[in-house]
Amino acid sequence: MRQGSNGTVPQSVKYAIVGAGIHGLSTALHLAQMLKATGRGSGADILVIDKTSIAGGASGIACGVVRNNYFQPAMRELMAHSVDVWESDPKAYAYHPVGYMQISPECMHEDVASIYEQQKAIGYESEFIEGAADCQDYMTGLFDDWQAKGITSVLHEKRGGYATNTASIYGLADKAEAEGVRILTGVEVKGFEFGSNSGAVTALDTTRGRIGCDYVIVGAGPWVSRFWNMLELPKAISIKGRDGKMHDDVRMWTYWCLEEGTLGVDPEMHRTNDRRMPPVIHVDTDAPLYSDVDGSLITDRLWGLYYKPDFNFGGVQGGSSPYKVDQDPDSVAVDPYGPDSPDFIVGDNFIHTWCSMLAHCQKRFEGKISLYKYKEKSGGLGCFTPDNFPVFDVFRENVYVIADSNHGYKMLGVGKLVAQEIMGEKSALLEPFRFARFERGELHPTSHSPFPWS
Ligand SMILES: Cc1cc2nc3c(=O)[nH]c(=O)nc-3n(C[C@H](O)[C@H](O)[C@H](O)COP(=O)(O)OP(=O)(O)OC[C@H]3O[C@@H](n4cnc5c(N)ncnc54)[C@H](O)[C@@H]3O)c2cc1C
Repeated sequence: MRQGSNGTVPQSVKYAIVGAGIHGLSTALHLAQMLKATGRGSGADILVIDKTSIAGGASGIACGVVRNNYFQPAMRELMAHSVDVWESDPKAYAYHPVGYMQISPECMHEDVASIYEQQKAIGYESEFIEGAADCQDYMTGLFDDWQAKGITSVLHEKRGGYATNTASIYGLADKAEAEGVRILTGVEVKGFEFGSNSGAVTALDTTRGRIGCDYVIVGAGPWVSRFWNMLELPKAISIKGRDGKMHDDVRMWTYWCLEEGTLGVDPEMHRTNDRRMPPVIHVDTDAPLYSDVDGSLITDRLWGLYYKPDFNFGGVQGGSSPYKVDQDPDSVAVDPYGPDSPDFIVGDNFIHTWCSMLAHCQKRFEGKISLYKYKEKSGGLGCFTPDNFPVFDVFRENVYVIADSNHGYKMLGVGKLVAQEIMGEKSALLEPFRFARFERGELHPTSHSPFPWS
């Protein structure tokens, strides 16, 4: 049952889930199904609470790219699991299985080759093309106007693609509600009540009063640092680095601003030579980038972009590398979020750079900057952990925190694994993402990509 802020608020629930984004709703759906299947309860035991609306956070503004391409083995296995979930009901999840391409320069060749090898090992279908001439042939075989420079490898993932952000989250909400889950929007969690004997959470303090609960799941996306504070967890932590030494007082959360936008061309103009919908394109290159407006040099350092035709956004939509918000996380204005933010939306610099990147890659985008959708505000914040990878873990005995470090729209399957863990079955796929990895020095490997999430 879906209820706005006037809906009745229960005095207590068994499972309280904060956040009606991809993780909160996916957890709600799978937990409801598992409770029913094991005779231990049903969706009626679950309440999802959101301070704004379904898809009111990052999940509702995500570009929606679903890929496997990660340098970190644990991330790749987790993504393969999530792609299975996307493929289980493409219609409800508004999923477009067009595939994904990572197109790279020589400095990333070795990293991407190892991704390809490991994709073969886990049975994730992809093709790997090496050498400048073969890459150019492969790309012009797809798009006859391909002209990106400095490319020496192409990884073509045959699975993955993208999904339509809001539609998929509503699809998930419908499925959860069909299992009896209640979704209460317009109600904000302001804090937690802790038990006097243990540190466990006994109730949520909300704008509609106290809600007692046995178990809490936090799927608060970019607001996770606020929940971390409410749970009285440390703002700075110790990390055992790759040098084997302990590094103390490392900030737990850092905000990055994601820059994305839409070129208002007819999405049909970006089909392949044989008129099919193209895979999502991601290009990184160290070739100099020149302005498509006046020919001036924009950068001669490694840069990257991604794009896809998108009928929902109404054009060719995508983005480039995010930038770090160099501020104490508590002072970052997360609200108002996304397009409503006065601070964290894209400006002229992004538009000029991203449109020039598109033109660098394909001739069809040359001279099209005037069609950029200036009036539609875009971009938004993501909240990242110290190593930029997720933390999936239980704190204070009964609070499951899903902190995806902004990797997460594609991670539709994480909610299923979290639900399994709440039911008592440990997940090997989630094990590499525990909080204790920082102290133990079990960090994920880093790649040469210009993006903090690859
Ligand atoms: C511009 C942009 C593009 C992106 N593109 C991609 C992409 O292409 N592919 C990809 O995989 N990932 C992408 N991401 C990352 C992805 O969107 C997020 O990692 C993911 O959506 C986070 O999901 P979530 O469920 O944790 O949080 P959200 O979707 O942010 O949901 C959290 C919810 O919690 C609610 N909430 C917050 N505080 C409270 C409170 N106090 N009380 C009650 N409710 C509260 C919010 O209203 C919100 O609805 C992108 C992110 C951004 C910003």
